[in-house]
Amino acid sequence: MIVVAIDGPSGAGKSSTSKLVAQRAGWNYLDTGALYRAVAWLALREKISSAEEILAAIANNTIHFIADPKSPKVFVGDVDVTTEIRTERVTESVSVISALPEIRASLLNLQRRLINEAERGIVVEGRDIGTVVAPDAPLKIYLQADIAARAARRSTEIAAPVSSVSDSLAQRDQIDSTRAVSPLAKASDAVLIDSTELDLEETVERVWELLKERSLLGLPIV
Ligand code: C5P
Repeated sequence: MIVVAIDGPSGAGKSSTSKLVAQRAGWNYLDTGALYRAVAWLALREKISSAEEILAAIANNTIHFIADPKSPKVFVGDVDVTTEIRTERVTESVSVISALPEIRASLLNLQRRLINEAERGIVVEGRDIGTVVAPDAPLKIYLQADIAARAARRSTEIAAPVSSVSDSLAQRDQIDSTRAVSPLAKASDAVLIDSTELDLEETVERVWELLKERSLLGLPIV
């Protein structure tokens, strides 16, 4: 089973790229940010903030991810939170929660389980996939783009002013890259792709070329 790790800051195009690569290869897709967002959503619903309380809440409300790149979904207990985890409230609180070491340890187990469940291959996107979650992945990508390009794309996606999106991205990058446990970082053996000047199709093509170069695509399914 092949694991492709795609890390990078918010808004660099990780999700769109990962989903398209996974669809093209016929593989699974894991959005690890969605898992952290699901925990943040649960903490907001329960009005809790300590790691201990959050771990207890997770134990009672199992987090579930459907690893289908055409329609990925995340559940907290029986509740489908796929849409709700994208709200501003969740976005604003997620980086603080994802900096808690106990929460990271708990989600690390879940991520590895979801990776092991993939049959042929899986594209996993996040911040610490190449460095911590799947350090043996045969292809690691670090996808980055200038803050202006990221803010412009995200602002179109969520119909919000570029300046506030830019501030929010910069703040999240700052927390994510300076936390003590598994900060956002490029693995030493990751291939750097800068998507500032690339559109989605071109970014997907770069990843696809790397998969071919490394003979990771295997035989086509008949
Ligand atoms: O990728 P997305 O922007 O949805 O991720 C939301 C947040 O989840 C990130 O800002 C980061 O704080 C956290 N995260 C993380 N480690 C990952 C994936 C996401 O800490 N592997």
